[in-house]
Amino acid sequence: MPRLVQVAVPVPLRDLLTYSVPDGWLMPPIGSRVSVPLGPRKMIGYVIQNDVPIQLASDRAIKDILKQVDNQPFLPQAVLDLALWAADYYLCGPGQVLEVGVPHGRGLGPRTYRHFNLTPKGRTYFSVGTKDGSFATPNRLGTKQLLALDSLVKVGDGLSQSDLIGRGVPGATLKRLTDMGLVTVTDKPVVGGESNDDLNAPKAEVQLTSEQAAALARLRSALSTERFQTALLHGITGSGKTEIYLRLAKETIRSGRRVLILVPEIGLTSAAARAFRGLFGSSVAIQHSGLSARQRHAQWTRIRAGEVDLVVGTRSAVFTPMDNIGLVVVDEEHDGSYKQEENPRYHGRDVAVMRAKQAGALVVLGSATPSLESYHHAIRGRYELISLTKRISDQGLPAIQIVDMKEEFAEQGGEVVLSRVLAAGIRARLDRHEQVIILLNRRGFAASVFCRECGGTAECPNCSVSLTIHRTSGRVRCHYCGHSRVVPTRCQACQGEYLEFSGLGTERVELEVRQHCTKARVARMDRDTMAHQGAADEMLTRFGRGEIDILVGTQMVAKGHDFPNVTLVGVVSADVGLGVADFRAGERTFQLLTQVAGRAGRGSRPGETIVQTINPNHYSIRHACLQNYEAFYREEIEFRQAMRYPPTLGLINLIVRGRSEAAAMGDGFKLVKELQRLGRTEWILGPAPAPLSRLKGQHRVQVLAKGDHRIRLGEIVEAALKQLPRIRRRISVDVDPVFVS
Ligand code: ADP
Ligand code: ZN
Repeated sequence: MPRLVQVAVPVPLRDLLTYSVPDGWLMPPIGSRVSVPLGPRKMIGYVIQNDVPIQLASDRAIKDILKQVDNQPFLPQAVLDLALWAADYYLCGPGQVLEVGVPHGRGLGPRTYRHFNLTPKGRTYFSVGTKDGSFATPNRLGTKQLLALDSLVKVGDGLSQSDLIGRGVPGATLKRLTDMGLVTVTDKPVVGGESNDDLNAPKAEVQLTSEQAAALARLRSALSTERFQTALLHGITGSGKTEIYLRLAKETIRSGRRVLILVPEIGLTSAAARAFRGLFGSSVAIQHSGLSARQRHAQWTRIRAGEVDLVVGTRSAVFTPMDNIGLVVVDEEHDGSYKQEENPRYHGRDVAVMRAKQAGALVVLGSATPSLESYHHAIRGRYELISLTKRISDQGLPAIQIVDMKEEFAEQGGEVVLSRVLAAGIRARLDRHEQVIILLNRRGFAASVFCRECGGTAECPNCSVSLTIHRTSGRVRCHYCGHSRVVPTRCQACQGEYLEFSGLGTERVELEVRQHCTKARVARMDRDTMAHQGAADEMLTRFGRGEIDILVGTQMVAKGHDFPNVTLVGVVSADVGLGVADFRAGERTFQLLTQVAGRAGRGSRPGETIVQTINPNHYSIRHACLQNYEAFYREEIEFRQAMRYPPTLGLINLIVRGRSEAAAMGDGFKLVKELQRLGRTEWILGPAPAPLSRLKGQHRVQVLAKGDHRIRLGEIVEAALKQLPRIRRRISVDVDPVFVS
């Protein structure tokens, strides 16, 4: 009589696989890892079920497991249950979901890292500039070498090897520069934030405001029931939500249960991470981006061993192997980074709600700009709605002034980047030694280059998007596939010589700001300047210390930071993002504007926000400027209802890929036919070319499945895909999509 186990293997297979346990072996425990054969491969999988009745097995020849990796559970039952639920809900492989929460490269983190510094000689050489070449002939230095020197000059106190590699400098280049005596190298020990003094600094207990106290009282009573419940904490920016999380967490731990906190991203400068560490010391695990694989793994092991009472982490931490959870917090619950945009396409916030449900815990979703989904649940009574309407500082929300750029262009010319109002606002802040944040949610120098003779634009050869101009590197670049080439001097289509840049990017804004305020210390924060880990932390720390006057950047500058000396926020163009074909475009614009406006006036001085737009009457912009979330929600939900979009019903986005558009459309029609056959009350839209109709050389066709019952909708999509095994792997499935492109 064979003994059978069911195993989740990390491949995109929906089913668990059945294997037999060789005679004489102990039965592998549920949650332990086993090595199994899969086709020609050997893989590590997770035992989900042991002692499986023989009739469950299919008639295929059942293979033996090859090896038992653990003799005890590697993952707790709670994580297995959660992953199985997520796999069913998101229509992806259970083994793939389980992999999400497990640290990789176990125990392999380096103990020291190589740190490169510019030598004084190198500094002289470089500051003299490439024209003079007092030390080395510049044309004997390659572009990579110049890039390395340039990066080191900018940072001042050196960079690690991995940082430099992250910036595109290969190890061989560093060796050559070292040999030439231009840079020096030292080995530095790895510090993981574990012993960072800053993080341990205890904070004096503050007196809660009456609004905070009332909110806390309601959450406390929910917590004390020790039953599953979801609360939406809708608190405007600066209303003191973190303090509430802290007190609830303390209370949970005091009562003998554990706490899971999810945040969109964490760095060492994260106020929340610091606060939690200060309060709870070493019984906290904080999974920030500065951790090495070794440290991550060490923390994970401590969590699994039950040595940790509170975990703070990004979306994958929702699968943390901690048991006895009493409180789950999802901070900035509206943030798009909770959604994983690759397989498995799960949503950290929604999985967190399920985790709390399975644990019988209280889950608190916090935001100044709740997602339409969460607010919809709240006003329909599924979530408890708790509001904080006042800022902690005496300052109200910053006044927001709209500048109609159509008028500005008419009076000042179409080339204007900073309106007169914004330019004057910046100057006034500099005179008073206050700080400024300037947002433009598009990186690069210009959005596209077009030919004045034929009107053609420079497009990516692989994707259906125009190439963005990056002036610093002198290249045009595709933000989807990474294709890049030198900025063209002639039109590719007609050889015309009159090429024009259109659409602003952060590089251009930085340049304008520098030209406008020659004395100011200006820094830019976007994915181009923040290529290496920890760079954002460094820059924010310098901004916090007052070493930067004006911080220009993409949405990175809008997130949760608390800088009391920032009294002006400028939005160069609120219109970026409104033009995209995504039903969430309005919601995203509202969130971004409200959040960035919230960065101003958090100290003792009042803040001001200046928003430049050519759509001053757009409802997202209007409501954001009045900081009126409810009014925005009412207008947006009406649109969603009318157009049949979430949260008023369920949506699954199916993208069919193909080598040609015809091939993808052909498969799309098969999919639609199957969906229509199976679904009676569902709406099936498509096939149609996806908004992003070509990506990385593949054609993309979109099919949208909508339905009132999302569980049923998922079942129909799953059944349809089962009928189409031949084209299944060319279809990607996104349940509750966040970016519908
Ligand atoms: P939010 O997350 O809601 O935007 P924060 O939690 O960052 O707001 O709080 C804003 C600031 O007010 C922080 O510096 C925080 O330490 C401080 N703070 C919070 N609650 C109080 C309080 N009751 N008294 C004094 N300061 C407080
Ligand atoms: Zn591309």
